[in-house]
Amino acid sequence: MKKELICISCPTGCHLTAETDANREWLITGNRCPRGKVYALNELTDPRRVVTATVASTSELMPRIPVRTDKALPKRFIAPLLNRLYAMKVQIPVKSGEILIENVENSQINVIFCCDCIK
Ligand code: SF4
Repeated sequence: MKKELICISCPTGCHLTAETDANREWLITGNRCPRGKVYALNELTDPRRVVTATVASTSELMPRIPVRTDKALPKRFIAPLLNRLYAMKVQIPVKSGEILIENVENSQINVIFCCDCIK
């Protein structure tokens, strides 16, 4: 099996090639530093992303408040989380760093507010 990837760990954006050997282990080439191999192996076995979004609020000044996950979330949980966030309307006040959703899908990852909203 062979896959092409672009490392997003830094702006260089190395083009990586991942191929399986006879033992079905991934061999990574094209990386200019060790982080590329770590990125590729994570992407191939457990792809994750930090999720950013906005949620509706009761605020007149800030009708949508930015939120994000506090760690990278497994990709399979992203669409259900976005559906949940877009269906919400939060009561103000909220503080930056405050948890909106705790332990998404039992992942130990939380959704937090990215800013204060007091009125
Ligand atoms: S492999 Fe290293 S140098 Fe290349 S994009 Fe990834 S982090 Fe940057």
